Amino acid sequence: MQELAIKFNVKNVEFQGETAKHEIDDKSPSIVRDFNKCILCRRCVATCKNVQNIGAIDCINRGFDSCISTTYDNSLNDVNCTFCGQCIEACPTGALREREYIDDVWAKLKDPDTYVIAQTAPAVRVALGEEFGMEIGTNVTGKMVSGLKRLGFDKVFDTNTAADFTIMEEATEFLERFKNKEHLPMMTSCCPAWVRFTETEYPENIPHLSSCKSPHQMFGAILKSYYAKKNDIAPEKIFVVSVMPCIAKKYESKREEMKIDGICDVDCVITTRELARMIKQANIEFTKLDDESFDHPMGEATGAGAIFGATGGVMEAALRTAYELITKEELKELNFEEVRGEKGVKKATIKIGDAEVKVAVAHGLGNARKVSEQIKNGEADYDFLEVMACPGGCIMGGGQPIKSSKIRSEVDIRRKRSEAIYAIDEKSVIRKSHKNPIMQEIYKQYIGEPGGHKAHELLHTHYSEKEKYCIDE
Ligand code: SF4
Repeated sequence: MQELAIKFNVKNVEFQGETAKHEIDDKSPSIVRDFNKCILCRRCVATCKNVQNIGAIDCINRGFDSCISTTYDNSLNDVNCTFCGQCIEACPTGALREREYIDDVWAKLKDPDTYVIAQTAPAVRVALGEEFGMEIGTNVTGKMVSGLKRLGFDKVFDTNTAADFTIMEEATEFLERFKNKEHLPMMTSCCPAWVRFTETEYPENIPHLSSCKSPHQMFGAILKSYYAKKNDIAPEKIFVVSVMPCIAKKYESKREEMKIDGICDVDCVITTRELARMIKQANIEFTKLDDESFDHPMGEATGAGAIFGATGGVMEAALRTAYELITKEELKELNFEEVRGEKGVKKATIKIGDAEVKVAVAHGLGNARKVSEQIKNGEADYDFLEVMACPGGCIMGGGQPIKSSKIRSEVDIRRKRSEAIYAIDEKSVIRKSHKNPIMQEIYKQYIGEPGGHKAHELLHTHYSEKEKYCIDE
């Protein structure tokens, strides 16, 4: 419908008559609900209820008064919505959309006293080109960096670098817990929608969550401490913009737990779609841009960081590092095929030295609920669990280009984007997080040991039970 409206230049509705009037819900830092645009197709309800198994929204009332709403008509901010944004991907009219922060970014880019840094997640580079008519799954890393530089960012860094820090911290934390048999299985914490799901629906499982921040939050903390000091810039003058495939990361960046001494790690999160809008607003011909590289030194990343964008990627990257940390031997076969692919819950037993590590990977919140129930009931037969809230992982995040149902039924979008992600890994010179030279340097110069005091101060956080109001209860 949005495509047709653009094609036929439909800007207003001319039909007379009584129309339903709904207040716009813009309280959430992630999602704006404007049900004046809703046509009651209920695709959002089906996605939230049947695919994600959350049920934050449903149809209420009858006849003319029918509308999609939440428990007690609360804001999405005050119910059990995880902000995964899959409803936005399903909505044909834009009644659900991301909370846009484009104007905030433009204002900072125009301010000569602010040092504006962009960091981009792995999944953005394999989807951004679609907004400019390029084939699904085209890797546009060079053009994306070039576009961001033309928009006026002072530096453009790669969140994949931060993913390497996440692996160092997460693998260290896991090895400690594995040795002491404490709070196993350890659950990954890089997906904020999954973290919020655990906090609202399974608070008893919170001790299983890794205390690591997600990669972009870790990066923000490093930029406003190590990088600020090294380049003699006051941390308050740095404005970090994370370009993400994700809606939940907008909410995550506003969490109190993501501040150090009152300063946010990340100031603003924009989605792949918002970046495309900015590039279009600036009249940049994206497809004609030359390729440019990320700025040094914080743009040096490994293939392990790149695969974070696909389901199983965090686990695979962690296993590559855990293997070498435990055995002190070189890992020859880097691809852990057992944790790749679209199966909802993947399980594998990996032999590392004398130990057998049992791992599981789940994607989509429907599958997350299955593994959460197992953990709650003490039935989980694995030691380490990766969960990504979006089906397929971040490559299919709620901030990625929206595809019509026709394209979704004809093309395997998940497969094309994930193939592009794994191709980046295959071509990388370094494919193990712990071998990232800039990361090693920062640990040596500033952070100290992974899992040490400074690392905890900057790169870790804590989670706690949150209130839940579910329409199904
Ligand atoms: Fe965000 Fe990725 Fe989690 Fe989806 S899977 S909510 S895109 S972090």
